[in-house]
Amino acid sequence: MSEQAPVTLALTRGRILDDCLPLLARAGVVPEEHPAKSRKLVFRTSDPGIRLLVLRGSDVPVYVRHGAADAGVVGRDVLMEAGSDGLYELLDLGIARCRLMTAGLAGSPEPGPRARVATKFVNIARRFYASKGIQADIIELSGAMELAPVLGLAERIVDIVDTGNTLRANGLEALETIAEVSARLIVNKAAMKLRPEPLKALVARFAAVTGSAP
Ligand code: AMP
Repeated sequence: MSEQAPVTLALTRGRILDDCLPLLARAGVVPEEHPAKSRKLVFRTSDPGIRLLVLRGSDVPVYVRHGAADAGVVGRDVLMEAGSDGLYELLDLGIARCRLMTAGLAGSPEPGPRARVATKFVNIARRFYASKGIQADIIELSGAMELAPVLGLAERIVDIVDTGNTLRANGLEALETIAEVSARLIVNKAAMKLRPEPLKALVARFAAVTGSAP
C-alpha cells in the first residue's frame, strides 16, 4: 500500500457505530454520508487520509487481521471470541459499554457437571464453564438467545447484557458476569510497522477525544 493511500478504519454497525460517530467527529473525521442511513459500505470522510468501512462486528477483526482494513473499532466481546492474532488492541474507547453474562430462567437451579448453553459466543462460553468445572454442551445460535431457556433448548445462555430489560422481558435473570465489555481500537500489526505515522496519528486522535492513554 502506498504512503498516499488513505488509512482504512473498519467500524462495527449498530450501537458501536452510533457511539463512535460523535467521537470521530470530535477527532475531525466526518463521513461523506451518514453510514446508518446509507446502503454504502465504504465512506470517504472529511479527512482525505481516512476512509471508513461499516461491517458486522465479527467481520471487523477479520478485515483488520488480513490487512484489508488497517484499523477497526470493535467490541471486546468479539475480540475475546475471535482472538487477537495479528492485531494490536491499542485503546479502550469507553463507548458501547455492556457486560457479557450468563443468564437462565428466573429461579432456575444451578446446573450440574454438564449444562446445555445456547450462545453465539461459543469459545467464551466453553472456556467460562470449563473454568467452573462444568462441561458446556454448546448450542450455537446467531440471535434471540433469550428464547432458548424459555423453549427448553438450553439451561443457560451467554449473551450481552446492558440494561437487562431484554432478559427480564423474557422471564430470564442475569447470573454471572464473564467480562465487562466496551469498544476497542484495534490495528493490524503489519500495517503498524509499514505505515506507523498515519496509524499512530489515528490512535493519538482517538486517545485525545476519549481521554484514554495509548
Ligand atoms: P438490554 O436489554 O439493554 O440488556 O440489551 C440487551 C441486548 O442489546 C443484547 O442482546 C445485545 O444484543 C444488545 N446490546 C446491548 N448493549 C450492546 C453493546 N454495547 N453492543 C452490542 N450489542 C449490545
